[in-house]
Amino acid sequence: MPHEKIDVIQEDITKLEVDAIVNAANKKLLGGGGVDGAIHRAGGKEILEECKEIGGCETGEAVITTAGKMPARRVIHTVGPVWNGGDNNEDRLLENCYRNSLQLAKEYGLTTVAFPNISTGVYSFPKERAARIAVETVEQFINEAEEPSITKVIFICFDQENFDLYSGLLNE
Ligand code: ADP
Repeated sequence: MPHEKIDVIQEDITKLEVDAIVNAANKKLLGGGGVDGAIHRAGGKEILEECKEIGGCETGEAVITTAGKMPARRVIHTVGPVWNGGDNNEDRLLENCYRNSLQLAKEYGLTTVAFPNISTGVYSFPKERAARIAVETVEQFINEAEEPSITKVIFICFDQENFDLYSGLLNE
């Protein structure tokens, strides 16, 4: 069943005018490739300075900075698990990324949040399994909220494969 508060969009996450975009960061928070590199390039050095000040982030946790030159208001940096066969708590750690990011958004009064498919690039988490965890965790968070805090979650897809994957899952 499609969810009224969830959208799937094929776009570059750095271009979105939302309250928060979520970055698939690494533990050191010093930037990297993939979506992390794109966010730091588009946002400018201010984000990296804030990240250095924060000092790092554990897998499954989330931290927040401004969004520099991007149209979003904030960047939530979360560290996804590196895929290591699937028996090393990867699913649970990935769930934590989504839950902790949404919790942080809520604490900061941010109501529209965009997520890439965390861990499915360099970290090699299987895409469909990751997308399923993303959708289930986000639906659960939205449905369990006592007062509606998050009004829109966007699964932002860079490529057609992810777009088809999320669209399919949300129509199940
Ligand atoms: P990880 O290191 O957690 O595996 P990656 O950045 O390598 O993260 O990949 C995470 C996801 O982000 C992938 O689905 C990739 O296609 C996507 N991605 C990369 N650049 C962008 C972008 N500019 N906007 C949205 N998604 C992006």
